[in-house]
Amino acid sequence: MAMSDVLVIGAGPFGLSISAYLRHRGIEHTIVGRPMNTWRAHMPLGLFLKSEPYGSAISAPTPGYKIADYARLHKLDDYEDRVGPLSLERFLGYADWFTQQLVPDIRDLTVTSVVRSGDGFKVEFAEEAPIIARSVIVATGMLNYAHLPAELSGMPDLITHSVVHDRLDKFGGRRVAVIGGGQSSLQTAALLHEAGADVQVVMRGQEIVWEQKRDADLSLIGRVRRPPVQLCEGYSCVVYDSPGLFRLMPESLRAKKALSTFPPSGAWWLHDRVVGVVDVLQNHRIVGAEAHGSQVRLRLDGPKRSSVEADHVIAGTGFRVDVGKLPFLSAEIQAALKKRINLPLVNRAGESSVPGLYFAGINTAVSLGPGVRFISGTHSAVPHLAKSVGRRAHRGTSLGEPVAEPLAAPVEPAVAESLPSLEAAGSGPMPTI
Ligand SMILES: Cc1cc2nc3c(=O)[nH]c(=O)nc-3n(C[C@H](O)[C@H](O)[C@H](O)COP(=O)(O)OP(=O)(O)OC[C@H]3O[C@@H](n4cnc5c(N)ncnc54)[C@H](O)[C@@H]3O)c2cc1C
Repeated sequence: MAMSDVLVIGAGPFGLSISAYLRHRGIEHTIVGRPMNTWRAHMPLGLFLKSEPYGSAISAPTPGYKIADYARLHKLDDYEDRVGPLSLERFLGYADWFTQQLVPDIRDLTVTSVVRSGDGFKVEFAEEAPIIARSVIVATGMLNYAHLPAELSGMPDLITHSVVHDRLDKFGGRRVAVIGGGQSSLQTAALLHEAGADVQVVMRGQEIVWEQKRDADLSLIGRVRRPPVQLCEGYSCVVYDSPGLFRLMPESLRAKKALSTFPPSGAWWLHDRVVGVVDVLQNHRIVGAEAHGSQVRLRLDGPKRSSVEADHVIAGTGFRVDVGKLPFLSAEIQAALKKRINLPLVNRAGESSVPGLYFAGINTAVSLGPGVRFISGTHSAVPHLAKSVGRRAHRGTSLGEPVAEPLAAPVEPAVAESLPSLEAAGSGPMPTI
């Protein structure tokens, strides 16, 4: 059976960054996954990122690979590093360039199974023969966690999750209801309206929270008042963007902050494309949905309407993060993972309680902080991970600190219930926290 010291599963921002660092350190590894597939196939054409351009750069082991560098090299004269919005098209152009320069050897394979084997892991693929890897890094993002509430399930032709769509222009001339009041739903609604659809947003909240545009320049006093970090600006951002500081918090607080920090809100630049343009029904909860021929009727609980009818419903109902839903980790590995609110506990380097099994990105949020839900998290997490994986590859063992957290205590119901689903795809760090 073929062998690889290290297998990186996933070729999104985290997988790309990890591979770039490992390559730079001369660590033999294999990276598999469809490059930037979440962004290319699961986000609609016309989307803008919510993170600011500088906060959307993927961490690289050497200088010269930020979006600003890409823009300079490609003479994108209208590029502004500090204040966006950054278009999906430009972000993908940047990510493809990053990939060509630093991660040229991705293999488009799908991992179907990871089981422990000796000191390492046996990994199976949908497309070819299995391999043995000493270390495995799971950087598979959050698509596995897309959440459709029970009342909206079971009508796949009429009701879809927002991550299903890479184009919205096919809805032109049709009535579409969009569920949710976060960035993903609001941007979907704006794009649908601009494509000629008749759009109705339905949200539970009393009102949409809009973020403020940040100043184009930050004065010295401004820097003291609101220190800027890769993730956003302000003292809370410093903590949320720094796994070392975040880890000083009591575990119960970390569990609470991991997913609930940065609640749903709309980006400043989206305001005028929604307010007064798209019909938004606030303070209404969906209680059921029924098909009526080729249409769907949503039953509502709220002060104004008891139902809404549409040709199609797009649910911006976010994500329920649960590592138990990863289809490829064996039952034995799942049982050996120490977890908290359904996420693996990892050490500073991202190594879980299963030696040699690392996680990156959203799966590490309880241990490393909410910043790892976003692209900016590659900067705080990946250098430590690559160092630990490198030591392990060279010496055959993990030299990282052991997983220091206590054994997974049962999730306290109050904490579990207070955690919202990641509405709008964690779509957004952004500045105001
Ligand atoms: C609508 C939307 C908007 C967002 N906007 C922002 C934003 O503006 N700024 C921001 O910072 N973040 C944003 N996010 C969050 C964003 O998803 C993350 O920041 C980022 O993509 C995380 O990178 P990742 O590498 O962990 O995961 P992903 O980008 O999701 O990449 C996962 C990779 O894993 C691969 N993969 C998955 N399963 C397997 C398997 N079994 N075998 C092989 N490969 C596999 C996929 O093909 C893909 O290559 C947004 C998310 C959504 C859904």
